[in-house]
Amino acid sequence: MEKLVSLAKRRGFIYPGSEIYGGLSGTWDYGPLGVALKNNIKNVWWRMFVDSRDDMYGVDAAILMNQKVWEASGHVGGFSDPLVECKKCKRRFRADQIGGPSTKLGAGKCPECGGSFGNVRQFNMMFKTHVGAAEDESSVSYLRPETAGGIFVNFKNIVDSFHPRLPFGIAQIGKAFRNEIAPRDFLFRVRELEQMEVEYFVRPSEWEKAFEEWRKLVFAFTDAVGISRGAVHELEVPDGERAHYSKRTIDFEFDFPFGRKELCGLAYRTDFDLSAHAKASGATLSIVDKEGEAPIVPHCIEPSFGIERTVLALLVSAYTEDTLGGETRTYLKFNPDVAPIKAAVFPLLKNKPELVAKAREIYTALKKDVPQILWDDNGNIGKRYRRQDEIGTPACITIDFQTLEDGTVTVRDRDTGTQERRSISALRGIIAPHTGL
Ligand code: ATP
Repeated sequence: MEKLVSLAKRRGFIYPGSEIYGGLSGTWDYGPLGVALKNNIKNVWWRMFVDSRDDMYGVDAAILMNQKVWEASGHVGGFSDPLVECKKCKRRFRADQIGGPSTKLGAGKCPECGGSFGNVRQFNMMFKTHVGAAEDESSVSYLRPETAGGIFVNFKNIVDSFHPRLPFGIAQIGKAFRNEIAPRDFLFRVRELEQMEVEYFVRPSEWEKAFEEWRKLVFAFTDAVGISRGAVHELEVPDGERAHYSKRTIDFEFDFPFGRKELCGLAYRTDFDLSAHAKASGATLSIVDKEGEAPIVPHCIEPSFGIERTVLALLVSAYTEDTLGGETRTYLKFNPDVAPIKAAVFPLLKNKPELVAKAREIYTALKKDVPQILWDDNGNIGKRYRRQDEIGTPACITIDFQTLEDGTVTVRDRDTGTQERRSISALRGIIAPHTGL
């Protein structure tokens, strides 16, 4: 993990939040390569679950919502984790994370100082704020703790605008906020996160079929971004441990360096949310699915992916150390579809104007079609290769003297280090398929 965190910072993927002020626990800032990686992940997800399907509707709802949304959804009352405080050093922990029971007196000893714990109390994880100038109970709002809330409140809008038939889904990618008691493990547990969620609405009798379909689709997504299949494991969450709205949940866990932990989840939320919002708001949140049939409140299957954990799983999956040409190297073996930079273009020598001019010409023409390419003429070619390896660039294109004669360049493969001569006209075809174009 230390190597990953340091590479991510050094090469401009991820920086600690508010770093020059000493940081802010549970927050991370994405640098240029991190943004590109994240956008590529989101694009794969959106293409797979929205654009390539006829039964999905995308939304981008406000993060601040009427407080009644979170009262109805049960989050004001129940979105909490068990908190214990060490009587000696006053540090706070999540009781269930340090092996204690979640409801009784904090068991065990403080992992930091060996002190004993006080009583367990429930700590609500929503960030509370006020909207507008008045700071009274009526102006209370919350930063949303999951994007799902914004989907359920738009159910009626989507039905009224598009008249979908069941089954259909509403998808959203966006920020969510959780005031985690103990943020930790780099991107794994943060306080400001981004989720990619679908609420898939089905006839009540068809939830099991849809659940099974989404089970496969979760793996289709982890495969598509390049998370190794062997490192993802399903965990059937037992009764009593599921979220308050769920009748069945599978956690998809990943073998992180700090243990096997949840990467994403699949939950059967029944009609809990639509019924609760219908009751609390007075809106009709049912649908006439077949002519002549009585209106029904659909049931809902929710695949929920966190971007931070996806980024972390990808970094872990991609991080590779090997020996190439007698030298040890570190490289990120990203699937080209998510690699932040698709190719780097170099003139073999920086001080030969004819090479630089030709390389610039090729770079400029390629960049029009494939924006995610990079120019590098710093240092010798070996150093440039190492730099690109470290950020996971799948291909390096070098313009040399032969290019001036026959219009071919070398294309060097990140994983094997082998070089092939290819014609300039073939370059777009090599790179563009990985850009989603
Ligand atoms: P955990 O049990 O690890 O706290 P959770 O079961 O509360 O997670 P969900 O409510 O199912 O998580 O959220 C859906 C997804 O959002 C998770 O699978 C994860 O990818 C992501 N996620 C949730 N909380 C965090 C967090 N604090 N930091 C990073 N990602 C998170």
